[in-house]
Amino acid sequence: MPFSSLSDIQDRLNSGQTTAVEVAQLYLDRIAAFNDTLNAFVHIDPTHVLAQAEASDAYRAKHEARPLEGLPIAVKDIFCTQDGPTQCCSNILKDFHAPYDAQVITRLKEAGAVLVGKTNMDEFAMGSSNETSAFGACRNPWDTERIPGGSSGGSAAAVAAALTPAALGTDTGGSIRQPAAVTGITGLKPTYGRVSRRGIIAFASSLDQAGPMTRTVRDTAMITAAISGHDSRDATSVADAPEVDWLAACDAQDMKGLKIGRPKEYFVDGMDAEVRASVETALKKCEELGAEIIDISLPHTEAAVAAYYVIAPSEASANLSRYDSVRFGHRCENPEDLLDMYTRSRDEGFGSEVKRRILTGAFALSSGYYDAYYLKAQQVRTLIQQDFIQAFEEVDVIATPTSPIPAFKLGEKTDDPLTMYLSDIFTIAVNLAGLPGLSQPCGFASNLPVGLQWIGPAWREDIVLSAAAAYEGATDWSNKAPATFGGES
Ligand code: GLN
Repeated sequence: MPFSSLSDIQDRLNSGQTTAVEVAQLYLDRIAAFNDTLNAFVHIDPTHVLAQAEASDAYRAKHEARPLEGLPIAVKDIFCTQDGPTQCCSNILKDFHAPYDAQVITRLKEAGAVLVGKTNMDEFAMGSSNETSAFGACRNPWDTERIPGGSSGGSAAAVAAALTPAALGTDTGGSIRQPAAVTGITGLKPTYGRVSRRGIIAFASSLDQAGPMTRTVRDTAMITAAISGHDSRDATSVADAPEVDWLAACDAQDMKGLKIGRPKEYFVDGMDAEVRASVETALKKCEELGAEIIDISLPHTEAAVAAYYVIAPSEASANLSRYDSVRFGHRCENPEDLLDMYTRSRDEGFGSEVKRRILTGAFALSSGYYDAYYLKAQQVRTLIQQDFIQAFEEVDVIATPTSPIPAFKLGEKTDDPLTMYLSDIFTIAVNLAGLPGLSQPCGFASNLPVGLQWIGPAWREDIVLSAAAAYEGATDWSNKAPATFGGES
C-alpha cells in the first residue's frame, strides 16, 4: 500500500477496504520511521492529521465522497496554512503563523484531502538542491548522499519514499519538474494563470505557479483538477482560461498521429550520456506507439538561463522587501534605530543565496541599469515565447530531458552558484513562456532516476497529460521505487 497511487487508495476507500484514518496512520508511521533520514518534512502534527482523516471518514459515511476524499497530500512550506507554521524554510519567517489558507489549500480541503504537513524546500524556493533550506538539506531516497532536487525537494523526497502518496510544490524555474525528475516521480507545472497564487509566498510573481507531485500521471490530473480555476482575489489568475477535462485527458492514451517536437537545443554536448540515452529511448517508444518525432529548433533557448537570472531576482528583490521585521518575521535584538533594525534583521534572517538574489535583482532594477538588464531580459523572454509559438504551429507537444544530469552529491555545487543555476537549463524557458510542463520518470543513469519533460501549448495540459499517460501505460518506470524505503526498484 505505501507505494500505491492516489487513485488506487481512492478505490480502496470507495470499496470500504480501508478508511481515511488507516491510510493516514500508515503514512504517519512511515514519516516517523524515515523522516530523520530524509528530512523531507519540516512540520508535522499527527494529531491534526488524524483529526482530518476522522472528519473525512465521517463525511464519507453521510455524503457522497468528494474528489480527493480522505487522500493524504503534503504541501511545500511555501503555502500559507492556518494550521501550523508557514516558514518558507527561512529564518526570517521562523515560527510565522499565517492568518489565512492559500487558495489552493482551501481547494484541497474542499475536495476532502487530508493535509499531511509541511515539506522542506530551498529558502524562498531559491535553489535546485534543497541545500539553502534553513532547516538543513533534504536527501534523495535513491541515494541519501545525494540531493533530491529543488526547490520542492521535500515534496519530491516524501513522494518518492512514500511518506505521502502525493504533494504540492511550486515551480518558478523548474522547482516541481527538476526534483520530480531526480527522484523518479511525476510533477506538473500548469500554464501560468491556471492556479491561484494567493497565499503562496511570492518569489518571482510573473513565473511562480503551483502544481502536484505524484506517483502517476492520473494522480497529477486529479490534484490539478482540484486546485485549478479562477480566483477573483488573484489578479494573475486567468478568468476565462480554457477548461480541461483532466481525467478524460489521462484516459485518452492514444499516441497515433501525435506530432512530438524534439528540439535540438535540448540534446547537447555536456549532458549526461545515460540521461540522453534514456530520453532517446523514450522517444523511440513513443514512435512505436504511433507518434511522429519531428526535429525542431527553439533558437533562443541558450539565452533562457541568463534572462531568468535577471527577471527572477528582480522580482524577488521587490517581493522580499516586505520582510522588514516591523509587523511579522524575525527582528534583531536591541536595534539602535530604524535603519539598524531593518539591516540587522534582514542580515540575520536571510541566507546567503537569498541575499545574492536580492542584491542581483536590486542592481538589475536600479536606474541606469534597468534598460541594459531588466528590459533586455524581458525582450529575450518575448523571443523565447515566440520560439514556442512557432514550434507549436508544426508539432502538438515537445519532449525533452527534464534535467541534463541525474541527482548530484550534497555539497557538490554549493560553492559554485553558476553551475547550480545550470541545473535548470531545460526547465526555465517553460516558465518564461508561461507554458505547461510535466516531468515523468523514463529510466535510470548510474542507478539514479531520469526525467522526461513534456511541454505543451498554453492551456493544453490535456495534450501533455495524454502523451505522458500513454508513455506511462506502455512502460514500467513509474512503478519503480527505492528499495531502501521498501519499494520495488
Ligand atoms: N532553481 C531555480 C532557482 O533557483 C528555480 C527555482 C524554482 O523554480 N522555485 O531560481
